[in-house]
Amino acid sequence: MKKKCPECGEEFFGRADKKFCSSECRISHHNNMNKDKNNFMRNVNRILRKNRKILAELNPDGKITIHKDKLLTKGFNLNYFTSEYITKTGKVYKYVYDQGFMPIGNDFYILVIKKSYVE
Ligand SMILES: [Zn+2]
Repeated sequence: MKKKCPECGEEFFGRADKKFCSSECRISHHNNMNKDKNNFMRNVNRILRKNRKILAELNPDGKITIHKDKLLTKGFNLNYFTSEYITKTGKVYKYVYDQGFMPIGNDFYILVIKKSYVE
């Protein structure tokens, strides 16, 4: 069966379950895949660390109301958080580790800090 190696592009003959022309190509392919995954995770971790730092700086006393622009000008990314907490009344707090934020309308946010780790 004639096949094309996804790593080097060489054509080779091999069994149906053989994907790469050589074990060198197989290993280098998996290493590259892991590199991409690690880069992706590193970038996400960087955004989360930055988000947490911004919230902590803006909220030194544990509770504050601020305008969305203040978050955004500091580089806050609203799409990255680590957990959600929904209150009995249906309000959704988003947390970046211990630092929480929740929209309260008119582009204002309330910032809170989680006291202890739950869930
Ligand atoms: Zn190859």
